[in-house]
Amino acid sequence: MTAFHYRDGVLHADDVPLDRIAAAHGTPCWVYSASALERRWQEFAAAFAGVDALVCYALKANSNQAVIRTLARLGAGADIVSAGELARARAAGVPAHRIVFAGVGKTEDEMAAALDAGVLQFNVESEPELRSLSRVAVAKGKVAPVALRVNPDVDAQTHAKITTGKSENKFGIEIERARDVARIARGLPGISLDAVAVHIGSQLTAVDPFRAAFARLVELVGTLAADGIRLKRLDLGGGLGVAYNPQLNQQPDLAAYADAVRAAAKAAGLPVVLEPGRWMVADAGVLLARVIRVKDGLAKRFVIVDAAMNELIRPTLYEAFHAVLPVVKHGHVPHGTFDVVGPICESGDVLALGRELPVMAEGELVALRHAGAYGAVMSSTYNARPLAPEIMVRGADVAVVRPRQTVEELIALDRLPSWLDDSAR
Ligand SMILES: *Cc1c(COP(=O)(O)O)cnc(C)c1O
Repeated sequence: MTAFHYRDGVLHADDVPLDRIAAAHGTPCWVYSASALERRWQEFAAAFAGVDALVCYALKANSNQAVIRTLARLGAGADIVSAGELARARAAGVPAHRIVFAGVGKTEDEMAAALDAGVLQFNVESEPELRSLSRVAVAKGKVAPVALRVNPDVDAQTHAKITTGKSENKFGIEIERARDVARIARGLPGISLDAVAVHIGSQLTAVDPFRAAFARLVELVGTLAADGIRLKRLDLGGGLGVAYNPQLNQQPDLAAYADAVRAAAKAAGLPVVLEPGRWMVADAGVLLARVIRVKDGLAKRFVIVDAAMNELIRPTLYEAFHAVLPVVKHGHVPHGTFDVVGPICESGDVLALGRELPVMAEGELVALRHAGAYGAVMSSTYNARPLAPEIMVRGADVAVVRPRQTVEELIALDRLPSWLDDSAR
């Protein structure tokens, strides 16, 4: 069962009608279901029964403290990509020994912070990064546990902006060079080479690219073993997708993915780290918006809503699809084909294109599905639009897990230079 479902014609999150949330907290707003998160976690964990796996939730998909803590309480570790995410993971209660630090551009300050925290591993993406980390660790009298993130040159068959495992992408060490870099790692002070890692992209719905990447990684484990390098674990990354559009996307096969993971773990004889982000949280959230007006153009009909690309940038950035659901269903109303757009002064401010929807009236509510991942975390305040609130529902309970930013708070972030500041005269 999905957390978002109709009861008596009204879309609910768990036991709470979404029109009630909109009335109480305003729109636009994000609504997350804690029970959906918990079910997602359990489904994932069950699929990997019998595999020695540490599941490090990729915080960048949704790093609200309440989301992280919900998963951390169930045993999740964290995959982080910045010192900010390190602080968020720690504040939400993720133990440092369950944190992996990924990212192609870690600064030395970030490395130092993660060494002080005592993270499980640094996923290193280049030889210069390895040398930096060695310097930072030596200066601190510490040893940095390292996974070499390799680029297996596998086509993830996903959108160009979220593919990471092709040789032309900026990510990882080319797999042909991994053996040499491993030798260098072994010779560097303050470095302990513990693992190899891959992450080939996001929103993968086919399992074959994973299989291909895992096979290359397992082969590398064998090559390194022949060089006398014994690893402690295999990091298989994240990237499992969701069916945003049930008509177009195939639902990724979790069982088949788990089989591919199991096979890799067995072939390498090593425990694994998994880094799911989107798969864990996308389906557990919606973006609620209210119709401002309906505009009939010559060529197109538009539903203009009060959410925009500054909240959900995925449609314009990735041509992503999010299903649009009317929150209240009225029996027999005429339907039409609409573009659902926001009020921002950009043609790219589009949330959904060419959707068959009931003809909506001003003030009616819509929900954009699968907005739990790469939604709120990617939002901005463009057009001086304050950040929208995040609401978490659990059964019949409702909690504001991030209040709406006010315009005053937004303005107060700025400072006037002395020559413009009238109060300083
Ligand atoms: C983004 C990212 C993930 C999570 O990707 P999803 O597609 O959200 O599962 C995992 N690992 C690394 C290194 C990442 O950059």
